Amino acid sequence: MSLTVVGSVAFDALETPFGKRDKILGGAATHFSLSASFFTQVNAVGVVGGDFSDDEWAVFQRHAINTDDVEIVADGKTFFWRGRYDYDMNTAHTLDTQLNVFETFDPKLSENSKNAKLLFLANIQPTLQKRVREQCPGVEFVALDTMNYWITSVKEVIETIKVVDCLIINDAEARQIADEPNIHKAAKKIMDYGLKALVIKRGEYGATLFTNDGYFAVPAYPLERVFDPTGAGDTFAGGFMGYLASQDAITDETLRRAMIYGSVMASFNVEKFGTERVDALGYDEINERFRDFKRMTHFDEIPFEKASSAA
Ligand code: AMP
Repeated sequence: MSLTVVGSVAFDALETPFGKRDKILGGAATHFSLSASFFTQVNAVGVVGGDFSDDEWAVFQRHAINTDDVEIVADGKTFFWRGRYDYDMNTAHTLDTQLNVFETFDPKLSENSKNAKLLFLANIQPTLQKRVREQCPGVEFVALDTMNYWITSVKEVIETIKVVDCLIINDAEARQIADEPNIHKAAKKIMDYGLKALVIKRGEYGATLFTNDGYFAVPAYPLERVFDPTGAGDTFAGGFMGYLASQDAITDETLRRAMIYGSVMASFNVEKFGTERVDALGYDEINERFRDFKRMTHFDEIPFEKASSAA
């Protein structure tokens, strides 16, 4: 019962209508790992520079995330992303991307990471994602994320989609990959590349799951204070994949429940800057919000029991 994630570990500079931070811990693999760590054992694979300090490592340690495969390039600088959100918090405006040590990132997976039950390929170059997937033939379920920065060739992205089980993207990315404005036609076209599941995220409007057997839509939690949406997508993916990793089988039913856990975790992430909120989260809060989702969606499910069963 473990889960490996490959992706960025970063320093972010963020500006939202509610505040500003110059240099805080971020990165797709970071947000994902933190979120998933509430459900299962997580191995993070990435790269950082010599500027990554004990304070940053402590966040991973607090959640027992295995960072053995996070390479340290002592004379290099950690990946840096600067983003801004206006009042429409669904759209991140990238102001600066400094790949730094991420530019030559060549993920090296230990046997432990390769032997995980589930694998999440967070945002990196699609051919690199494909290579990582090929290093892990025994993994039961592989999910993939991508973003406009890395979609320089849709063809490359499609070749990578063909070797995974699940794709987790936003609606604009789905339209771009399928070259199709209608989201349902786009989903059908993308599913036909051989996916078992496709998750399309729509920020504050929730997320939709497409499988061969069904369609399931989850609203976002109705928050009145959204502080910083950075990492919401990765936090969603962490809750989704973490929950699946804690289950015996991946079925339409567990996938639907995973959608709820993804939404629960993402709703916490946006309440404070960066990793602050999820880092300090408790299981009681997760359980309470899961119950709220059940009330909101009439989603009739068993209570969240990982704290004792999957620890
Ligand atoms: P999201 O879940 O989409 O909001 O992801 C936000 C995280 O992605 C931030 O913490 C950034 O450090 C990271 N990020 C931004 N741009 C890139 C990129 N081009 N490649 C990998 N990670 C990125």
